[in-house]
Amino acid sequence: HAKAQGKARLEVFDESLRARALERLDIEAGLREAIAAGQLELHYQPEVRLADGALYGMAALLRWTHPVHGAISPATFIPIAEQSGLIVPIGEWVLKTACRQAADWRARGHDFVIAVNLSPLQLSSPSLARVVDDALRDSGLPASALCLEITESAIMEDPEAARRVLRALTALGVRLAIDDFGVGYSSLSKLKHLLPVDVIKIDKSFVDGITDGADDHAIVAAIVSLTHELGATAVAEGVETAEQAAALRALDCHVAQGYHFSRPLPAYRCFSQSEIRSAASPALSPALRTPT
Ligand code: C2E
Ligand code: MG
Ligand code: MG
Repeated sequence: HAKAQGKARLEVFDESLRARALERLDIEAGLREAIAAGQLELHYQPEVRLADGALYGMAALLRWTHPVHGAISPATFIPIAEQSGLIVPIGEWVLKTACRQAADWRARGHDFVIAVNLSPLQLSSPSLARVVDDALRDSGLPASALCLEITESAIMEDPEAARRVLRALTALGVRLAIDDFGVGYSSLSKLKHLLPVDVIKIDKSFVDGITDGADDHAIVAAIVSLTHELGATAVAEGVETAEQAAALRALDCHVAQGYHFSRPLPAYRCFSQSEIRSAASPALSPALRTPT
C-alpha cells in the first residue's frame, strides 16, 4: 500500500515536472515567433533626478503579449530566452527599437540617456559591439545617449571576457551601468578596476528597507558614497514611496527609478500630455507621474 502511494506521488511529481517542461517548450516556441509576429514591445520607465525632478534617463523594458497566454513577465521569459539562445536576436531587436525610439524623442527635443539591458549571453557574443554600432548608426543616436545595463553576475561569470567586450563597447562611446548592484557580493572597486563604470543601479531589495531598517540605510549610504568616489552616478531602483525618495535625496543619491515616479509606459504615453512644457524644460511631464 505504502509503495503504491509512493508511486502515485512520484507520478504526480512527474506530471507537474512534465507540465512545466511543456510550458517551457511552449514559451520557447512562442518566443521564436514573437519578433516576426510583432508581439514584442518596449515599455519605458523614467529615471528621475532627485534634486529637481528632471528626467535623467529612460530604462527600456521588454514586454511580450502571447496570443494565448496574454502578457508574460520578463521574469518568466527572459531566462528561457537566455537558455535557448533566443535572447541574442531578441536583444538585437531591443537595441534597434530602443535606439530608434530615443533618436525620435531627441529629434523632438527630449534629451536624455536611454538605458538598455544586456543579458550574460549577449555579453559573450562576439558580434555584440557590431550590433550596438549598427543600432546607433541606423538610428543616428549619439553613442553617449545610450547606456548599457549589465548585472554584476554577468561580469563575474567571466571577468576577462567581459573586460574585452566592454572595452570594445566603451570605445564606441556608449555608457555602462552595473544593474541590480549589491546582490552579487562583488566589490565596487573590483568592478571599477575591470571596466569604466558610469552608473551604479542600487538594487530594489536595499531601497525597500531604507526607511525602516538601519542596515539597508547604511548599505545604501555606503554604495552611494563609493559610487561618487569612483566618479559614477548612483541610480536607486524600485523607489515606491515619497519617504524612500526623501531618504535617498538626503543620502545624496542623484537619480531614482520606481513606481513612485512612474510605472514603465508604452512609448506613446511617455510625453503625451505636456509635449510643449516638457520640451521647453526637462521637468518631468504629468504624463510620467502616473499614480501607482
Ligand atoms: P531591471 O533592468 O532591473 O528593471 C527594473 C525592474 O523593476 C522592471 O521589471 C521594472 O518594471 C521593475 N520596477 C521598477 N520600479 C519598480 C517599483 O517601484 N516596484 C517594483 N515592484 N518593481 C519596479 P520588469 O520590466 O519586469 O523587468 C525585470 C527584469 O527583466 C529587468 O530588471 C531586466 O533584468 C530584465 N529585462 C527586462 N527587459 C529586458 C531586455 O530587453 N533584455 C534583457 N536582457 N533583460 C531584460
Ligand atoms: Mg536593468
Ligand atoms: Mg535592476
